Amino acid sequence: MIAEIIAVGSELLTPFRQDTNSLYLTEQLNSLGVEVGFKTIVGDRLKDIVRVITTALSRADILILSGGLGPTEDDLTREGVAETLGLQLRRDPQIVQAIERRFTEHGWKMSSNNVKQADVISGATVLPNSNGTAPGQWITGQSDGKEKIIVLLPGPPHELKALFESSVVERLRAKVPKQFLATRVLKVTGMGESACDARIAPIYKRFVDVDTTILAGPGEIQLHLRTQAQSSEAADQRLDSLVGKIEDELGDCVYSDNGDSLEQIVSYYLQMRNATLAVAESCTGGLVAERLTSVSGSSRYFLGGAVVYSNALKTEMADVPEDLIDVYGAVSEQVARALAEGIRKRCGSTLGLGITGVAGPTGGTAEKPVGLVFHALASENGTEVVKRQFPGDRARVRWFASQQALDMVRRKVM
Ligand code: AMP
Ligand code: MG
Repeated sequence: MIAEIIAVGSELLTPFRQDTNSLYLTEQLNSLGVEVGFKTIVGDRLKDIVRVITTALSRADILILSGGLGPTEDDLTREGVAETLGLQLRRDPQIVQAIERRFTEHGWKMSSNNVKQADVISGATVLPNSNGTAPGQWITGQSDGKEKIIVLLPGPPHELKALFESSVVERLRAKVPKQFLATRVLKVTGMGESACDARIAPIYKRFVDVDTTILAGPGEIQLHLRTQAQSSEAADQRLDSLVGKIEDELGDCVYSDNGDSLEQIVSYYLQMRNATLAVAESCTGGLVAERLTSVSGSSRYFLGGAVVYSNALKTEMADVPEDLIDVYGAVSEQVARALAEGIRKRCGSTLGLGITGVAGPTGGTAEKPVGLVFHALASENGTEVVKRQFPGDRARVRWFASQQALDMVRRKVM
């Protein structure tokens, strides 16, 4: 079964309000095994509302509308659904009474426009709203020989959620065939999007029942996999099988298959190895330390380090020989190596990380352009240095550099 969500409200077409209800509704529908095929946002104009409902009914089995159930002139969802289906609205005296009661309880006087919220589409089931005045409505009907379900829900998120949970979930569950949805997120680093896709497309194309989406982010790629089956075990098994094949192909470029961040993965491995880490950061200005310490419990493996932006501090705090900086420059393989070794020794850590580069947008030269970053990781077995040339603005270069640095630690300890 395919669902469609329509968010009604002109404010949702401005830069000031976001449609968040559809995110909640999508999560709920997915957990019932229902896919969302389309989402539409429409302003408070009757003609447009009718138009989107008509389109939605031509392609979806379940239609959920949120918003436009308020008391004001511009709340037109009830009118839009009634007009599309060719049904009458009738004012329900019981709902009028309930709204009046709600007002009296709060010590307010009901204004006349509120009675509009008691208008019920002919044949609809009224869904009581415990957090507000506008009740929801549930309508089923035939279109093109297929059963369609239409649900009207209030716009305020706390009202919509409470109403969905109390009156909609079970009604929907009774209507939809038992389907179970499984999802996985694989995170990949150390390769580009197209290179990754070229390697895994032949694999995932054989899994026609699995939806595969590749999302490229700064310094990593995410593979989102989802499938449906008759049981949750069958859905899980199907994804496990695909994940196994992708991991075989991409090897240690896959750093997580459960949504964990790179800093969390680094945390697991460092603790597993009983290893500690210290960092000497120049161009990342503490970003690596910030990311490492964003993980709860990081004091067990992250000792600390220094932000050594000036040449003097590189020497003073990480023991980088002055003449090394004079001869090779602060952004150099030699200085990165010295930073990593110096901070490791100073802090007494298992591993030492040194980062130096040109974050830009100023400061680049022909020999050392913006985006050039040297990363060094020192251990008892020696020091490895990686030179990278990152694209993008200052923020991206710094993020890429932190990503590379954390990934070097991951590969070292995994
Ligand atoms: P309405 O039912 O159209 O009167 O909406 C009442 C209030 O609910 C609006 O002012 C918004 O703050 C909120 N709202 C409406 N639709 C949404 C939506 N799709 N996502 C989040 N908030 C919404
Ligand atoms: Mg509205």
